[in-house]
Amino acid sequence: MSDKIALSTWPTPLEPMPRLAVALGLGQDDLWIKRDDLIGLGGGGNKVRKLEWTVGAALAQGADTLVTTGAAQSNHARLTAAAGARLGLDVVLVFPGTPGSAANGSGNLVLDSLFGARIFWAGDGVPSALADVADDVCRQLRRDGARPYLIPFGGSSPLGARGYVEGGEELHAQLPDVEHVVVALGSGGTMAGLIGALGEERVLGVHCGAVADPSATVADLAGALTGRTVGPDSLRIRTDQVGAGYGVLYEPVLEAMRTAAVIEGIVLDPVYSGRAMAGLIAAVRSGDIRPGQRTVLLHTGGLPGLFGHAETVGRTVTTLQSYKAV
Ligand SMILES: *Cc1c(COP(=O)(O)O)cnc(C)c1O
Repeated sequence: MSDKIALSTWPTPLEPMPRLAVALGLGQDDLWIKRDDLIGLGGGGNKVRKLEWTVGAALAQGADTLVTTGAAQSNHARLTAAAGARLGLDVVLVFPGTPGSAANGSGNLVLDSLFGARIFWAGDGVPSALADVADDVCRQLRRDGARPYLIPFGGSSPLGARGYVEGGEELHAQLPDVEHVVVALGSGGTMAGLIGALGEERVLGVHCGAVADPSATVADLAGALTGRTVGPDSLRIRTDQVGAGYGVLYEPVLEAMRTAAVIEGIVLDPVYSGRAMAGLIAAVRSGDIRPGQRTVLLHTGGLPGLFGHAETVGRTVTTLQSYKAV
């Protein structure tokens, strides 16, 4: 029983990263990057695999409007807008804040508008009540004669997470003896799906500060997916890359972004994939990942978010100017 739809072509590339591997202290054949940033819809990123399932369910139920929530620079919201555009569905994005909030004219928000999505600004100080606001928006849409379908925060329902059971199986077919998959942990569906395919021992999640209790979030989703009990204590989760909190630039993350950019020409983002890279560096330093072990960094995308993050852009440009001045 599957109403899944196709939103890209698969598999995504798995690229060896010999120079980065050596720079990190691994053997040159130990490190790959799985390029889910290259997924071919709407600028790419991990949320597309989940949307193949959730938007499929929306279509099967006869929906004509997709509704979802997130931070204003949400990659999930941007890709929901792109999926709606491709399928001829209306899209309403519910964000905290007001139209005048900082960075509203940049990054993912530019693409949301380009894809034709409507944005409902829920006002300041309501991030925790965003789901309630989204329910209200759905009621209003129904009164107006639309058939809305609400996709949860980050697409991380057990249904959406199935996209990463498939992603994990795809990776396993590319690299059967993979020992570590390092992934940014936001709303948790990506890590949970990977666990469904590869088991708890091989997946290392790097917490980005998006949820209050990452272990419980991932354990619940992975349990619902696999139909067995997944204990929060059995999960490998690093919480050392959050810094001052979700979306706040953290120095080791900027350093990790510079490393990937300078050594391999790979662009990571300051909120998610840069944190995964910083967590990978820390895991090698602490001996959790050792030379000789086949390791994959899952590149989950997020490039547009980089340009919605004034602090990161500012710091990077400053670096460039200071090089010029020398
Ligand atoms: C959402 C997101 C993640 C985290 O995925 P979850 O399934 O929410 O844990 C990682 N990287 C990027 C770029 C994202 O947009």
